[in-house]
Amino acid sequence: MNETLRLYYDNPYLTEFTAQVIAVAKRNSHPALALDRSAFYPEGGGQPADRGWLSATTAPHRWEVVDVQSDNGTVWHLLAGSDSWPEGGMAVTGQIDWERRFDHMQQHCGQHILTAAFIATCNAPTVSFHLSERSVTIDLAVNELSEAQVRAAEAWANTAVWRNLPVQARFVSPDELDRIPLRKPPAVSNNVRVVSIGDIDHSACGGTHPARSGEVGAIAVLGWSRQRGMIRVEFVCGRRVIAALHERDAATRAAAATLSVGWAELPTAVSRLQETQQALQRELAQTQRELDALRAAQWYAQTPESNGRRIVTATLPTATIERLRTIANFIAELPGGIAIIAGGEERVQVVVACHPDTAVDARDVLAAGMVVLGGRGGGQARLAQGGGGQPAALAAAIAAMRERASHG
Ligand SMILES: [Zn+2]
Repeated sequence: MNETLRLYYDNPYLTEFTAQVIAVAKRNSHPALALDRSAFYPEGGGQPADRGWLSATTAPHRWEVVDVQSDNGTVWHLLAGSDSWPEGGMAVTGQIDWERRFDHMQQHCGQHILTAAFIATCNAPTVSFHLSERSVTIDLAVNELSEAQVRAAEAWANTAVWRNLPVQARFVSPDELDRIPLRKPPAVSNNVRVVSIGDIDHSACGGTHPARSGEVGAIAVLGWSRQRGMIRVEFVCGRRVIAALHERDAATRAAAATLSVGWAELPTAVSRLQETQQALQRELAQTQRELDALRAAQWYAQTPESNGRRIVTATLPTATIERLRTIANFIAELPGGIAIIAGGEERVQVVVACHPDTAVDARDVLAAGMVVLGGRGGGQARLAQGGGGQPAALAAAIAAMRERASHG
């Protein structure tokens, strides 16, 4: 198979070209065309494939290019499902989705610059790079990275962008290669393509780059985090900086409008809101405790005494286990008080508490209920708790516990 002449090497701004179909095949269940020459960038080196269209030069037919892959020097153009396949030898006109390509050129070239910046400002080398539809990441071979270091590298990178340095890509001879201070050794040994950005970065790279660094526009670091012993830095360049700003601005404005403040006052307003919420929560817990004490006393008073015992049973489906315990304890502090309090919405929870003068062991009472319920539990003579089993058996379990408590 002949190699495809890659037109983007010489001219990354070429958006239209003519070529001949040298092979037709099915790849990844798409009709695919190999061309003798192409301006389409095939996926590789961390840069995604181009998209675009191919048209038959002599017939009114246009195919959408949905992926571009390189295979042993041949560039394959994968087409959207098609009922009319192009033929071998046919002449086609290619058209690149330029908006997508230029975005990739901005992100990719921005990555060269930011990588150089991290080396220059804090000696942190990039070990891998990933460019996706939304964001760009580089992994730095360092354990720590402070905000000050990130901002220093970002400032260095943007200065390099605004110096509008020439970006040159060329194939070099082995002799010439020896004299170029490459950032890292090339992956291939012959026919190495070197991309130089002014005097700040020289890399072996087969990707597409703008002619000058100024076209990257701006570089903004959005975040960084630990990732498998390295630091992953997420950033955006060019048009994506504006998109990221708009996205954050929309979220900030929505939050500020909800709190009726300006965006700059958001941090203060949010901490104030949090303080208020915490105070209210404390107040609510205190009020609930007081209410539970009153409720416990009322239930106790309404329960007839028998054999020196007042057995209070209650079900509070939405109460937490802490509240069930609090209420049970309030009841068991009163003379003759025995509390059997159940709760839990999906999983049944039961607390049993007994005043010492009743001579009833809370564990025995609980056990009588757990047998019926099919649950498990344990505790002390004065306070025991358990749960699980069949929620449908709760009423029968409470009846069994009451029975056990009155005769124990
Ligand atoms: Zn590159």
